[in-house]
Amino acid sequence: MAHQWRGVIREYADRLPVTEATKVITLGEGGTPLVLAQKLSELTGSTVYLKVEGMNPTGSFKDRGMTMAMTAAVEAGAKAVVCASTGNTSASAAAYATAAGLKCAVLVPEGKISMGKLSQAIAHGATLLQVDGNFDNCLDIARKLGESYPVFLVNSVNPARIQGQKTGAFEIVDALGDAPDIHVLPVGNAGNISAYWKGYKEYSAPFESATAGTLPAVSTKTPAMWGFQAAGAAPFVAGHPITEPDTIATAIRIGNPASWDTAIAARDESGGFIDAVTDEEILDAHRWLSAKEGVFVEPGSAAGVAGLIKKHAAGEVPTGKTIVITVTGHGLKDPQWALRTEDGSEVQPVKVPNDVVTVASELGLEEN
Ligand SMILES: *Cc1c(COP(=O)(O)O)cnc(C)c1O
Repeated sequence: MAHQWRGVIREYADRLPVTEATKVITLGEGGTPLVLAQKLSELTGSTVYLKVEGMNPTGSFKDRGMTMAMTAAVEAGAKAVVCASTGNTSASAAAYATAAGLKCAVLVPEGKISMGKLSQAIAHGATLLQVDGNFDNCLDIARKLGESYPVFLVNSVNPARIQGQKTGAFEIVDALGDAPDIHVLPVGNAGNISAYWKGYKEYSAPFESATAGTLPAVSTKTPAMWGFQAAGAAPFVAGHPITEPDTIATAIRIGNPASWDTAIAARDESGGFIDAVTDEEILDAHRWLSAKEGVFVEPGSAAGVAGLIKKHAAGEVPTGKTIVITVTGHGLKDPQWALRTEDGSEVQPVKVPNDVVTVASELGLEEN
């Protein structure tokens, strides 16, 4: 197994709060592909890459943070972990808790949770409770459980999660040879934008490693961070929390982001912005990714692409730059959106008899 990717903790151990003695809980997360988005590059005149985080073990970037959080939970002697989740955190927590031999409790908000995410949490044996409230209420309860009961909180308010998630930025710089000019991503609870910014900053300056002395800077610059929220759940755009967040992009249906201050810092220090895109723009970008780039994501994951397309239409995307967009989760998490046509009707397969001539004619082929 000489060339096997070892998961983000072992790959970046000298830049994470771990030691030789740490018992690492991993499912081989990270090492995800950086895919050249040919059509988005043609559209914008910049070189656009997709960091395809759906290729993580449980199908979203949450695994990068969960390997750290679960490792920390084991180190702390925890027997059980708890998280609030719009879906992907629960899938990841349940899988990593299983790998760690810990019990896992998951609080999900009322309303529709995607079948893909729900089935993962159940398959991995988590205890799943649907709370009569929204995500922000779930996180509130999870935090209180972590404070006053013998369970370890693995939400991104746990700093170990952000530490793990910063490795996404490291991988991008390692692949490109330097930081991109612009980094685009969806923003929900705002842990990921905070984590990427932390990673880019750490890679652009000498780093005091706890285990390996002073490490030299790897990149010469940091990117502008462009974050996009769903219009019905856009507290950063409004400048205050939203009490009734509403969007089809369930992964970013969050009204009161836990990482508020660090996201604002990422936005302002990087010279970027946080803007909003509508559900229609998100679904258009979701279709663009599937039909033009060959990359299948869940709707929330397409918010960054929707934002880039919107900014391009407004003449606000520079040409000749390197742009990376994190597409955060896999399309199979929430496949129903792929089966919906632009006019909202359901796609049905064409039925044909067991006969080559009819099949050929249905395909518009003529015999040669
Ligand atoms: C969690 C998640 C997000 C939002 O990330 P935050 O760190 O909460 O801003 C976006 N897309 C997907 C698929 C997610 O799972």
